[in-house]
Amino acid sequence: MAEQHFYKVIIIGAGPAGSIASMQLTSRGIQHVVLEKDTFPRDKVCGDALSGKVVNIIKKVAPDLEQPFRENAGERLPSFGVTFVSPDGRPVDIPFKLNDRDEVPAVPSGYISKRIHFDHFLAKNINSTFGTLKENSPVRSVTIDPQGVTVATGDGTIYTSDLIIDCCGVAGLTKAYTGIKKENLHHSGGVRAYYSGVKDLHPEGYIELHFLKDILPGYLWIFPLPGGEANVGLGMLTQHISKGKVNLRKLLPDLIANHPALKDRFTDAQQLGTIKGWGLPLGSKTRKLSADRLMVCGDAASLIDPFTGEGIANAMESGRIAADISSEAIAGGYWDAEWLSRYDKEVYRLMWTELKLSYRLQKLVRYPFLFNFITRKASKNKDFRKLLTSMFDNVNLRDEFRKPSFYFKIFFSRKSI
Ligand SMILES: Cc1cc2nc3c(=O)[nH]c(=O)nc-3n(C[C@H](O)[C@H](O)[C@H](O)COP(=O)(O)OP(=O)(O)OC[C@H]3O[C@@H](n4cnc5c(N)ncnc54)[C@H](O)[C@@H]3O)c2cc1C
Repeated sequence: MAEQHFYKVIIIGAGPAGSIASMQLTSRGIQHVVLEKDTFPRDKVCGDALSGKVVNIIKKVAPDLEQPFRENAGERLPSFGVTFVSPDGRPVDIPFKLNDRDEVPAVPSGYISKRIHFDHFLAKNINSTFGTLKENSPVRSVTIDPQGVTVATGDGTIYTSDLIIDCCGVAGLTKAYTGIKKENLHHSGGVRAYYSGVKDLHPEGYIELHFLKDILPGYLWIFPLPGGEANVGLGMLTQHISKGKVNLRKLLPDLIANHPALKDRFTDAQQLGTIKGWGLPLGSKTRKLSADRLMVCGDAASLIDPFTGEGIANAMESGRIAADISSEAIAGGYWDAEWLSRYDKEVYRLMWTELKLSYRLQKLVRYPFLFNFITRKASKNKDFRKLLTSMFDNVNLRDEFRKPSFYFKIFFSRKSI
């Protein structure tokens, strides 16, 4: 007879979405289990960049973790800005934030941390009075019916619950209930490798995005890490990869060895380990994210920013929202799809403006001359660089990018914009 366990909520996956959902359920006093196929610490293919939003969610859900998170210098490199390199090879440095005196603040907005460390840091906080992490527990099947949820794991153990929060990443374990499927126009492929000895990394941990002409609207990234290492990778729309039969695993070393903007920086660099690839389900369209007794978060819900490829913050935020809605559902005994659709509404209320705008920017980047023009202007004009900094924090301001009047204004202004 198979072992059977009941919990109020089952979470699948202990990545950023699942860990945060768990911490939030714990703060609401709800008994739950997190079923994770791997054992921590475990690797996850990623660029490893954590934006200011990640720190804000940690602050909101688990305030006690903010300091330990910021202080662990061995595992996280503080990042104070981004270097954009335009298709014509011009770099422009934009700080993430400026204080009232136009200086970069002492506390960093973002960090770069290998996921083997970051995910372990989060997952370590799952086990609590209310939360149980079951590692090495791959979910094999999920059945949802009017009586409840039944989940079977690899060793034959059966878990039942009132609700399930699916945070399994791209595995698609509950797609039969939501209809979410991979669409090449709303999906990217990405590869990355770790390197040591890359020259000229920014002293303040700026992340670098290289919008090389051959790979637009994708980009190559170089993200510095603690200990002089760097995460170097390449991402491109799956539609372009399929159409051009592009082999990203071959293209990455080829660009590094031969591209004039990169090759000198990699002459003494050493690749550490293999080049690894994974998919990025993009949030460039809305989808149904819930069903009877079910809410889907993070990559399983396709919430990655279609311009930047950033998905960790939205995964964590969706996990937090799903936990809050679970707590209301349990209090009222509401399990039906119609009631739970408030989850979809809240996710898109908080994220859709930015996702929609990023989708427009992703389309704009297909025009290299616009990109060249903006970076040319920014490299010469301090006020314009300040405006770009403000755009990191202010989505309404970022919306300016898609308006023809914005380009008109910067084209005709010489000193200020
Ligand atoms: C190449 C690349 C570069 C990226 N760079 C960045 C970046 O720099 N910054 C950023 O913010 N985002 C980046 N992203 C996106 C980011 O990696 C994801 O958005 C993020 O990991 C989503 O978190 P998640 O918790 O939804 O899913 P995941 O992190 O994928 O976690 C899912 C968890 O579910 C577990 N799981 C899967 N199947 C099962 C199963 N059957 N049973 C039990 N457990 C299961 C997995 O083991 C995993 O622990 C990148 C993605 C790629 C591919």
